[in-house]
Amino acid sequence: MERKLTEKETVSRLDDALMRNYIYVSYQPQINYSTNRIVGAEALVRWKDPKFGPQYPVDFIPVLETKGLMYKIDLFVFEEVCAFQKRCRDEGIYAVPVSVNISRSDIAEDLSFVNSMEKIRKAYDIPVYYLRIEITEKFAVERKELILSALDRLHDLGYVVVMDDFGTGYSSLNILKDLKVDIMKFDMSFLSENTDVRSGKIINSVVQMAKWLNTPVIAEGVETVEQADFMQSMGCYYIQGQLYKEPVGSEEFFEMIKDVKSESLSFNYKSFGENKDNSFWNPHSVESLLFNRFIGPAGIFTYQKGEVNVLRVNQKYINELAMHMDEASILRMNPWNTIDNADREKYENVLKDIIKTYKEEECETWRNLDSDCCGRDRVCIRSSIQLISVMGDQYLFFSAIRNITAEKEAVGELNDNIKKFEMAGDQSNTFSWEYNILSKEMRPCSRCKRVLGLPSVIKDYPEPVIESGLFPAEIADMYRDWHKKLAEGADHLEAILPLTADKVLFHVRYTAEFDENGRPYKAYGSAVQVVD
Ligand code: C2E
Ligand code: MG
Ligand code: MG
Repeated sequence: MERKLTEKETVSRLDDALMRNYIYVSYQPQINYSTNRIVGAEALVRWKDPKFGPQYPVDFIPVLETKGLMYKIDLFVFEEVCAFQKRCRDEGIYAVPVSVNISRSDIAEDLSFVNSMEKIRKAYDIPVYYLRIEITEKFAVERKELILSALDRLHDLGYVVVMDDFGTGYSSLNILKDLKVDIMKFDMSFLSENTDVRSGKIINSVVQMAKWLNTPVIAEGVETVEQADFMQSMGCYYIQGQLYKEPVGSEEFFEMIKDVKSESLSFNYKSFGENKDNSFWNPHSVESLLFNRFIGPAGIFTYQKGEVNVLRVNQKYINELAMHMDEASILRMNPWNTIDNADREKYENVLKDIIKTYKEEECETWRNLDSDCCGRDRVCIRSSIQLISVMGDQYLFFSAIRNITAEKEAVGELNDNIKKFEMAGDQSNTFSWEYNILSKEMRPCSRCKRVLGLPSVIKDYPEPVIESGLFPAEIADMYRDWHKKLAEGADHLEAILPLTADKVLFHVRYTAEFDENGRPYKAYGSAVQVVD
């Protein structure tokens, strides 16, 4: 019959269970959600009693802690992990660090537990890098002095120390300040129980706090894609939980790391604290869903004291850059460094404008991007920027972006063509102009401006050029008449006309353009000198 062991049974069966491997270790991988690579694992104790079935850590750990016996399990787990790491090394596998939990009772009196750990580690000859120590936040609050000396000792020995269940132990900022842990683990159960705005905000401030403390965060107990997306969008990439893999036996874990590429965990996120737009921080809100899944390429950034910090970008943003980057590398970039110097000032001025007017504005900037697979590239980004909220001197902005590099290049090409066309005009003695039939405005080509001294726009055309004598008196009425005809729908007009006071003969032509209703609206004029 399966049942929970009584306290007495737990104590009396412990040694036997350890000896006969009724107690054993399972491994839960930790991955980088952006790259899908394994960055580590947590060793979790399992106890399967042959008579009473599986026993759960929540039940037997408190019992063994009160009896001062938990150290036996923890040293056992530690040794199993050392043996596992040794096996990896012997078989030439690129092993990942595995963290082991230590219980508050392990170091309740002194640090002899740490000495025992060290003896085991040395016996297996495992570098400290492959072993991490997890302590719970609650523990840290209860026994501050002791935990501080344990931390010092572990750090002296070179261990990476992980604070488990960060954010649930109500630790004061004062304790956090002194507790120099290297990694923080955040339990997602917090999120599933409280799926409101508050919890989203709290998670965000926890990640923010970790950022202040310059400490990476692992999100634990991640069960859904939404949770992982949400954590990722705040810059927390490391996850552990059923979404990727439940805790597995050592054999299965060995197979996993044998074939899967692994990477080391590093500090690489940026985050942001409170803001007024509540729903945005709720992972289950429509806003988060829209941001992550439905809207076009977009990002969220802060602007403070002349510095821009990118906090969140969605998948479409990443695709839009077309540099095959992952979100981590985008958030890691200092955005100012990617923008051309001149454009940086322009962009900053747009931000300052928006702060004054609260209006959405657009800005085009050239960026120099660098990615592992595509090398360096220059892209032109058009951003439509809106202010989301203001907190002190920190401004939170939303930016919808579009990669307009191809358009820009096309415009560049067009300008080149115009130049070529103008040069051809120069060489063939051609003058050309555009006449707006509706507004009676004439825009001359650059040769007209240069050679004939015409302004860029001539209103009430053709009167001013008749007055100037360019079109002499004898042809003035006829030329006026042409413009009437154009307004009435003539599509082509041409004649040989003596122009200027010198009566030089020019072949003058007009070709009209019509709108979709057949109404004339524009005409292109040209004058080519007649050469005998
Ligand atoms: P923990 O260190 O915070 O470990 C994470 C717990 O979350 C584990 O529970 C793990 O099985 C569970 N978990 C994994 N994925 C998911 C998920 O997707 N959703 C949810 N809701 N939970 C998930 P477990 O193994 O029952 O251990 C419970 C606690 O017992 C651990 O919490 C740790 O504090 C303690 N513990 C486990 N093994 C050891 C050990 O060897 N020594 C000590 N001292 N404590 C241990
Ligand atoms: Mg743990
Ligand atoms: Mg935990």
